[in-house]
Amino acid sequence: MDLSPLLPPGFLFCNQKFTHDSLVIGLIATDAVGTCPLCQTPTSRVHSFYQRTLADLPMGGKRIKLLLRLRKFFCPLADCPRKVFAQSCNSVCKPYARRLLRADQQIQTIGLQAGAKPGARLCQTIGQSVSASTVLRVIRKTPRLVVETPKRLGVDDFAFRKGRNYGTILIDLDGHKPIDLLPDREGKTLETWLQNHPGIELVTRDRSSVYASAISSACPDAVQVADRWHLLKNLSEAVERFLDTQRPAIQEAALAGVQPAENQAATTVTTLMETDLPQTTTEQPVLSPTQNQPIPTEKRYAVYQRTKELQREGHGIRAVARHLGAARNTIKQYFRQDQFVPRPKPKRSNLLNYETYLRKRWVEGETNVKVLLEEIKAQGYNGEYTILTTFLADYPRLVQEPALPPAQKGVRYSSRQVSRLLGLPECDWPVKEWAFLSYLVGQNEAIGQVRDLCLRFKVMMKDKKPDELAQWCKEASGSVGLSNFEKGLRQDYAAVQQAIGSIWSNGQTEGQVNRLKTLKRQMYGKASFDLLRIRVLARNWTGPPK
Ligand SMILES: [Zn+2]
Repeated sequence: MDLSPLLPPGFLFCNQKFTHDSLVIGLIATDAVGTCPLCQTPTSRVHSFYQRTLADLPMGGKRIKLLLRLRKFFCPLADCPRKVFAQSCNSVCKPYARRLLRADQQIQTIGLQAGAKPGARLCQTIGQSVSASTVLRVIRKTPRLVVETPKRLGVDDFAFRKGRNYGTILIDLDGHKPIDLLPDREGKTLETWLQNHPGIELVTRDRSSVYASAISSACPDAVQVADRWHLLKNLSEAVERFLDTQRPAIQEAALAGVQPAENQAATTVTTLMETDLPQTTTEQPVLSPTQNQPIPTEKRYAVYQRTKELQREGHGIRAVARHLGAARNTIKQYFRQDQFVPRPKPKRSNLLNYETYLRKRWVEGETNVKVLLEEIKAQGYNGEYTILTTFLADYPRLVQEPALPPAQKGVRYSSRQVSRLLGLPECDWPVKEWAFLSYLVGQNEAIGQVRDLCLRFKVMMKDKKPDELAQWCKEASGSVGLSNFEKGLRQDYAAVQQAIGSIWSNGQTEGQVNRLKTLKRQMYGKASFDLLRIRVLARNWTGPPK
């Protein structure tokens, strides 16, 4: 069989040997001429041979070990300081390497997709025995990608550790892929990157002023687009902050929104009558708490007898238990017993004899179970405290308790809840919230105005009508609730207008941030910036050069 297409180029097959986990292949270099690395003189004067052992790509789950037989040559030039030099094999492996280049590339590809430890385990299954540290080392040797500067760029920040330190991710919006990661979210870093990558025409970003000024100073001609989602989020936050100042109005509306009939019920004083107590229908209820239905004695006796038979036949406890479908501890007990011991009859309490007395005391107002227990014990009750508690649990507990203030349903509305409800068009208001909301909007002019502005802003964004923004801002500046939000919009006016009108948004950047978070968490927070960067950008890495 001709193995040459499978062998590294420039070598001839000599021999092979199988061991239990690997195939050892002996090869010799075909080129019998060497070139002195110092004086570049070619020669074929062989000094001696030497051998290098290298790992190749595994095959059939087995490791492939190559024994390369290489020459050493005499340098023919008399005055060259190098007298003897070794034949190089740089086309198939690096100097001092223990693996062929192609084996390294395989490990690299697996490591980039899976990470270090999973990568090492995957390598193990295909027969390439490497440690996680080796995979990491190989991943880190991935050549730095040369990215083309995109025309449209998405910028967003991400947390290495939330609240502590952040980085920046840059996305090619046309190519839908990350093109770089920056180690912080400082304006200066982004500015430097943008200066080194001229030609960007449009940048989508969140509403951070740091990014905004960095983009303006590095590429003043680029169109900036604020993120639509953040814009709506800022709006709802502004509404919430405003509603925080309107707590009394919300409270009033919540009270007005409750049906008057619901409030009446609790205000009447309840008096306990003898007839309110639960009726005991059966003569002899089982008062002892039983969880499971007890097994009848006959059945237990049958199991006992069968167990004894099987025991005599020499079967073990475990086997008998499995055979009879009984608990192992029960069978163990039967193994030890020489004769059947019936279960003791459950003790029945005589609580029902004191029922009339208990009812009388309860209506009189004595609801303390401990006191009642003492009283009936003195009369001859033989049961336990828990039985009495269970029995009395059905008795109404209204006597002697102070009258509760009227239940005011719907009083508690958080600002966030109200903000969400107000953001809905009237036809979508929930029926039970209707009275509350219509009272709130109708009676409070400021809240009504904020709601109106809020709805109009959403419609403007939905219909992509940036021209209406000026008029909206004019009205919002006069409103109590949204003037600060409007001030923020004015500071970033062009980008907000783009956010309303442009087809570009930062949505896919946010998606890429999610992908980044997944990769970060796969590496359990041990990933340093360089490793994270390599793995996030690995999507663009199409493999080693062919
Ligand atoms: Zn030389």
